[in-house]
Amino acid sequence: MTAIDPVNDCYRPGDGRMAVADAVARLKDRIGPVTGTEPVALADAAGRILSEPVVSGRTVPPFDNSAVDGYAFASAILPTDGHLRLAEGRAAAGHPFDGRVAEGAALRVLTGARMPDGTDTVAMQEDVHLSDGWVDVPTKLKTGANRRRAGEDVKAGDAILQPGIRLRPQDLAAAASVGVGRLRVYAPLTVAIFSIGDELCEPGGEAGAGQIYDSNRPMLSALLNGVGFAVTDLGILPDDAAVVRRRLGEATERHHALVTSAGASIGDEDHTVAAVRALGTLHAWQLAIKPGRPIAFGRIGDCTFVGLPGNPVAVMVCYVRIVRPMLQRLAGMDWPEPHAFPVPAAFEIDKKPGRREYWRARLALDEAGALTVEKFPRDGSGLISSLTWADGLIEVAEDTARIERGQPVDFLPFSELGL
Ligand code: AMP
Ligand code: MG
Repeated sequence: MTAIDPVNDCYRPGDGRMAVADAVARLKDRIGPVTGTEPVALADAAGRILSEPVVSGRTVPPFDNSAVDGYAFASAILPTDGHLRLAEGRAAAGHPFDGRVAEGAALRVLTGARMPDGTDTVAMQEDVHLSDGWVDVPTKLKTGANRRRAGEDVKAGDAILQPGIRLRPQDLAAAASVGVGRLRVYAPLTVAIFSIGDELCEPGGEAGAGQIYDSNRPMLSALLNGVGFAVTDLGILPDDAAVVRRRLGEATERHHALVTSAGASIGDEDHTVAAVRALGTLHAWQLAIKPGRPIAFGRIGDCTFVGLPGNPVAVMVCYVRIVRPMLQRLAGMDWPEPHAFPVPAAFEIDKKPGRREYWRARLALDEAGALTVEKFPRDGSGLISSLTWADGLIEVAEDTARIERGQPVDFLPFSELGL
């Protein structure tokens, strides 16, 4: 297990505004798994994070076998007319033929049967002609046709799964194929979440004067649950220094990580920063990113603290680009690197250079039927309607000053961001 930086300063930023790539590089380098490991049965392993390599003790397939239902024969000594005597018996999956197929003969074989001794090639049953004790096979079959070789999938000693992956159904098939029935995985990362603000109230209830509904918490909870963390929803905290400090302290004793939204900048009513400083260490990062400039990282005891901005779009952008990969790393996973796809812009726009921007976007077809990407027309970071409209984000590099219509831009589909 990679230990967290022992001097407890892995979240200390550099000076001034930090580029997103630098922030990512810093976090990626310095944080590692913080949870223990446990063995689980394959049936319970989907979605868990593998903590050690799976090395095959076996060759797969373990023997040469037939890929089809048909007739097996030796190709080197096939008569020129393909006319073979039908041998007595058959080979089926799980029931190998224990004799040897004689020269000039073919044996009935079924898919998965071990190749009978004396044969190397199989003619599919659809391609043969059977008549009273004889079988005519195609004469142009290559040696080894329709035969699966021992070890063509896996060799004994191969590392078939690497630690740090989140186990997918096909990974479980791979483990099962080499006879492994239990896997060692990381214990789930426990993450507590709070929303902070006197203006917030619970959806489903009555909103008082000056109140808005808390929309960050349902979103964050779903985002975190979707990656397999064990999430504790601790509700809404008021803008009250003593309450914030007490509740933060309690939460950090029982969780690996704590994620809050809002109240993390240096405004009069922003008590989170002060509370984390009083209980542990806090580093406020000024990222050169829009939306979502201030983001705070800290440690209280063994708990990692992340303070997100309040505006829902900023929460989403910071979450997908910084917080999700970081928490996944704490949970034992590799740092995910989303693939951006170049897609021509359906718009033209000027941009202020110097910061990385993320625009809410969605794919569309132009009049000629070609793929293009649209940008949500407004930029406000409180516009939740823009997030429901979008199916991804356009990532715009720091030095970009203008995008021309038709110019390829980097489109990050939500699926690449774990959404
Ligand atoms: P703050 O960081 O506390 O200054 O909040 C910035 C903006 O985000 C304010 O307009 C807040 O009302 C809004 N905001 C904060 N928390 C939430 C939330 N949980 N749901 C919706 N909007 C929020
Ligand atoms: Mg606030």
